[in-house]
Formats: sequence, structure tokens, C-alpha cells
Amino acid sequence: MQDSRLTMADPTDLATLRVALRESDPDYTLHPIQMDSIFIQRQALEILPQVVSKLTNGTGKNILMVTDSTPYFRESSSVKEKVYFLLTQHFQVEWLVMHNETKDLHADNVNSKIIGNALQGKDCVIGVGGGTITDLCKDSTHMFGDDLPLVIVQTALSVNAFSDGVAVMLKNGVKRTVEARYPTVLIIDLDVVQQAPPERNLAGYGDLMATWTAPVDWYLSHVIGMNANYHESPSIILRPQLRELMKKSDRLAKMDRGTLSLLARVLTLSGLSMGIAGESSPASGTEHIISHLIDMSADSRGKNVAFHGAQVAVGAIMTSIAWDFFLKEFDPSKVDIDRCFPGHEEMKPKVYAAFSWLDKDQHAASECWSDYEKKLTKWHSAQESFRSFLNNWDSFKEEAEKKTLSPEYLCECMHTAGAPTRYSRLTPEIDAKTVRWAMNNCHLFRNRFTLSDLLYFLGWWDEAFVERILDRAETLDAGL
Ligand SMILES: [Zn+2]
Repeated sequence: MQDSRLTMADPTDLATLRVALRESDPDYTLHPIQMDSIFIQRQALEILPQVVSKLTNGTGKNILMVTDSTPYFRESSSVKEKVYFLLTQHFQVEWLVMHNETKDLHADNVNSKIIGNALQGKDCVIGVGGGTITDLCKDSTHMFGDDLPLVIVQTALSVNAFSDGVAVMLKNGVKRTVEARYPTVLIIDLDVVQQAPPERNLAGYGDLMATWTAPVDWYLSHVIGMNANYHESPSIILRPQLRELMKKSDRLAKMDRGTLSLLARVLTLSGLSMGIAGESSPASGTEHIISHLIDMSADSRGKNVAFHGAQVAVGAIMTSIAWDFFLKEFDPSKVDIDRCFPGHEEMKPKVYAAFSWLDKDQHAASECWSDYEKKLTKWHSAQESFRSFLNNWDSFKEEAEKKTLSPEYLCECMHTAGAPTRYSRLTPEIDAKTVRWAMNNCHLFRNRFTLSDLLYFLGWWDEAFVERILDRAETLDAGL
């Protein structure tokens, strides 16, 4: 019998969640949730001045408010202006608008420094916006010193990245998850997120589809000896409630407030799952890597990217097809172990061939190789665990099947919610050549072992296999 404090975890009651997690973790593997509080409610904006006063012990006067430059509307008044107005009734507020002249705003070091330069003398930082503003605020205040209170006012249910201690930053043109900090307080006003463009909230729903692929990758990498930190609790806190949410995909399509509240809750739990794991593995596996490659490709060509979560959802469908093929067809007795361990001299040119075109100085390729090299070295030292994985295939298969959902069901839920399942239906659309490049090369991108690595080493993951995935997706009205 599983603990209902975990299976029905309530992110707005962190005290109870902390106790339940503590009791589920006798070996102290999990990391603490370093947040004061999370509010998911109607009219949550109204409590902001009170929250800031409490965080600054009633003495803080100087507030930095950070937003992007996109206009954002709640009924007729701008959410950002409303937050500014509420704050200026009580505090001295500097409003820093982050923008990029030609393209979307990126979470990169240049933008992080711009915020960092405005932090001196501030008593509290309020980030109002989506994932990029949140990542920039987390990164810049982390560099400054983690004791500066950070409040995030989430304006859409677009990603799960609000309630964890890491930031996804662009480094040498490559997206990397970096150590940052948690927001001190997260505020989700249901009236605000209900007014967000539906495709943004559906993107958040899409980001959650990784729950049926990423933790399976994580479990695989643990069993095969590539990751020592696996724990069940990060997934337990969100899976049952996500199943409930998926049954309500039709109500989500109508942006029903009760269903949005459940989406807010599950997305926040998904962020917390990464925080307590101390790494993004519970919510980021093969599907995210495919998405990161698509982003890098767009970035190198100076193009905008589609919503992160919308891209991830299509990647999750592709990955769930790969899992389905693997779990149904793999026969461990046919594996030639000696052929599963390519050397560095064989793989280095492959990594450079995959990524050299991204920039003229090959920074991205060098960055990827420096990460991939570590993974390859570790893989060579995991031969014994790999043998034992092959010997215990049936028990692995049984566990993995419990952690996945069929690609058919993922597609059905996405279609019912009115969310895209094809790369060509995203905005901007992603062309077939880019998708094929991203899928073929995703395993070469970083130091995290996923299904795509194992399938590559087994000799499965190649152009023909990618075509097979795409063909199966086509039968589900998904894929390209
Ligand atoms: Zn994500």
C-alpha cells in the first residue's frame, strides 16, 4: 500500500510532503525541497505584498521585478502592470524588462548578468513570467548569493521548471542544466493562468508526457550501472495525479479551471520531482534531448523555437514508441557484448560530424564531446552491470512496463486535449530534416545515459530505426 501523502502529494502543503518523503527515504538519497511555500489558488496575486513583507521581515524596501517584454493580459489589465501596481503600494520597485531585439529571449549568461547587475541593494526579487524568466532569475540570484529571496509569479502552465533548483542555460550554443537555486516562493494565480494562451498551458501538459519516458530512462541507467542515484519517490508523487489529469483531457481542452488547477499541481510536482532527485532525470530523458537538439538547430540558424513542452510531448511519443519496440522485441540472448563498447576514437568523429555545423568554431561539438566522452568512459566501466542487466532482462522488463504508457494512449490524450502531436503542427513548424537529425544524433549530445544510448550500443538506433519510429507514429497521426 503506497503512502497517500505521496500518491496524492499536495505541493501547497510542503510540510506534509517533506515528512512523507523523509519516511520514504531511509538511505537519505533525496534532496531537500528548498522552498518556503507554493500557492496555487484563485486571486493569488493579491497575497504578493504580504508574501514579500514576510520574506524581508517587514523591513525590506527595495524590490527588483523582472519580466520579459511580451504583453500579457488578464481580462483587460496586464498581469505585469497589476503586479507592479500591487508592489509599488508598499515598496520601492525597479522593473527590469528583459528583451531580445531579433529573437525570443534566451536564458543565457549575458541576460543572467544583466539581472545580476541590478541585484545590488535589493531586498527581494520578483520574477513574473514563464520558464525563461524563471531560469534567468534562478541563475542570476544564485550567482549573487542564495539568501536573496526570490518570488516567481507564474503566468502560464507552460513548463515544469518553476519548482526546482536548476536552470536550463545556453552555454556555447548548447542547452545545459546548471546548478541554480529554488525560488523561495512560487505563486500560481489560477485566474491568471486561465487567461494564458491555451497553447501555452497545453505545452505544460505536453512537458508532463515525459513522465512516461524519462523515469524509465532513469531506471534503465540505474539498473545498467550508469546512475547511482535512482529513487522511486520522485515519480510516485506525480504519476497517479497525472493519470487523473489525462482522463480529463477533454476538460483541459476547454481550459476548465478545476482541470487547470490539477495541471498546475502536477506540473509543480514534476518540478519538485527533479529537485528532490537532485537532477532532472525524473522529468528529462530521450524526449528532452531530441527537443534540445531541435532548439540548438533553430538557434544556430537564428530561428525561434516552438514551445518547449509542445516539442517535448512529440518527443515523448517518439520515445514511447522506441520503448514499446524495445520491450516487446529485445532478446538478450542475441547480444554480442563485445560489439556494444565502441572506443573513444570511433565515437569522437561521430560527435563532431553530428554537431560541427552548428557554429563555425565547433564550440557546440566540443561541448558535446566533452560531455559524451565522460558517458562513454563510464559505459566501458559498466560492463559487469550490463551483463547482469541482460541476465535479469525479464524483471527489468516487468518494472519498465509499469512505468510506461502506450504511445497510442499518449496520442489519444494529446488529441483529446487539442494539443499537437506532429512536429509540423508546432509553431514555428519543425521540418522533417531537422527532426531526423535530432532523433538520429540525440544520444551523442550529453553525459546522461538513456534508452537511445543503449539502443545505439546494441546496434538498434540508426536511420532505419528512426524511420520505423516515424512510420509507427504516422499511424497514430503523430510524428513529422
Ligand atoms: Zn521539460
